[in-house]
Amino acid sequence: MFHHPDLPIADLPWMRASGSGFASLGEAFATPTNPTPLPAAHWVGCNEALRNELALPDDLWQQQEALELFTGNRLVANQPTYASVYSGHQFGQWAGQLGDGRALNLGSVQTPSGLQELQLKGAGPTPYSRRGDGRAVLRSSIREFLASEAMHGLGIPTTRALCVTGSPAHVRREEVETAAVVTRVAPSFVRFGHFEHFASNGQIEELRALADHLVTAHFPALQDKQGAERYVALLHEVTQRTAVLMAQWQAVGFCHGVMNTDNMSILGLTLDYGPFQYLDGFDANHICNHSDHQGRYAYARQPQIAYWNLFCLGQALMPLIDEQAPALAALESYKQAFPEAMDQRMRNKLGLSGAHEGDRALVEDLLQALQQDRVDYTVFWRRLSIAVLESAHNTHAFEPVRDIFLHREVFDAWCARYLERLGAANRQATGDAMLRTNPKYILRNHLGELAIRQAKAGNFAMVQDLLQVLHAPFDEHPTYEAWAGLAPEWASSIEISCSS
Ligand code: AMP
Ligand code: MG
Repeated sequence: MFHHPDLPIADLPWMRASGSGFASLGEAFATPTNPTPLPAAHWVGCNEALRNELALPDDLWQQQEALELFTGNRLVANQPTYASVYSGHQFGQWAGQLGDGRALNLGSVQTPSGLQELQLKGAGPTPYSRRGDGRAVLRSSIREFLASEAMHGLGIPTTRALCVTGSPAHVRREEVETAAVVTRVAPSFVRFGHFEHFASNGQIEELRALADHLVTAHFPALQDKQGAERYVALLHEVTQRTAVLMAQWQAVGFCHGVMNTDNMSILGLTLDYGPFQYLDGFDANHICNHSDHQGRYAYARQPQIAYWNLFCLGQALMPLIDEQAPALAALESYKQAFPEAMDQRMRNKLGLSGAHEGDRALVEDLLQALQQDRVDYTVFWRRLSIAVLESAHNTHAFEPVRDIFLHREVFDAWCARYLERLGAANRQATGDAMLRTNPKYILRNHLGELAIRQAKAGNFAMVQDLLQVLHAPFDEHPTYEAWAGLAPEWASSIEISCSS
């Protein structure tokens, strides 16, 4: 089932894997698995900016061999593609072995931005597919492609997406859809679940090898530390990165939807885009995953869930650490790191310099006002930034912000406190900085949906145009002004199913 000895070899000199990536850990980690070809492959989305960053050939999108490689229809000479095994906690429960059920790794390539792993998502079944088909549908592949690049445009750590290819081959979900493959790029795709896997199986030497590989390849500052100290430092570093990532998600209004430990990146990247959503109207209790009946992964719970997930990672590292106290201390650093990172981001969004006593209350009361009226989160921040900028010479500058509240008196009272806190700050400079902090464009559900509808009809222009705009979300894009507007009425009826 997993071998297609007749798969042609692609002649792509740039696709020469370095021997020091994840696959160098050996077959306990990387299980050689061939892709299953798809017929009549075609490009759906091509990320020219990332191609350029990785210094891949200028004519990449014209190369038939590249199209075939990124669809899983070619192999690279002497480079077996592989799937990796991991386990994890799903919705708070130990789920046992999971693994790359539909991800196939091409290996790591040397690029100007360092060694990067390339991974195909949806290229067919693997030994870890369980009951799945190893496929991904066009709809979810476009969402992942655009969301990861939107995240990058916002300056938030994430796995990247180089391209999406499509095929007319049928994939059965709630209805019959067509297949697609996303090529993801990251320095490492290692998840908390990789550690949980080897720990739960008592494979301590593999656990150590994995931790050492990560330190060597991705945390060189920790390399001089030996023994338990090294693994405590690793746990501390992952904790810090995760805390910052959560602050970045919360500040931009991103809801991941499936924060299981197998979807948590050890590098602190946003990983595995499924039923995610960027908030439209602000609702702290928003649940974007329709299968999440308890609201475990509701927007406001994400920072707490990340902390819970870090404890799972800590638990998995215990065989290498032995003593509980230093591991707990590393984990508990989250309790300081997250609020600090969060406060800093909210101050930046408000254009406040320095840290003042009442800042947190100012933010909390604002969020309550946004919540009460379900004010559009992105539109609010953008209008506030413009208001601050224009208040340099316009006494009515805050009216467009006031207009989006139903309870105007609540906004007025808050705004008076805000202006007092802004004080004598230079409004022009403050507003300018706020416009570079508060994006104009986010990947709203309805925008993704429109791009998907067009793509299903064979028109990929909107995928490409959205990619361009989302790569520069703080800039003005006059042609695409409508994409910065409020979500239309029908957006609330879009159901993002967990199936992808
Ligand atoms: P997720 O919730 O999407 O992160 O997936 C959880 C687990 O299910 C991972 O091990 C995935 O590889 C696996 N999985 C999800 N969808 C499929 C599929 N269509 N075929 C095979 N495995 C899948
Ligand atoms: Mg996953």
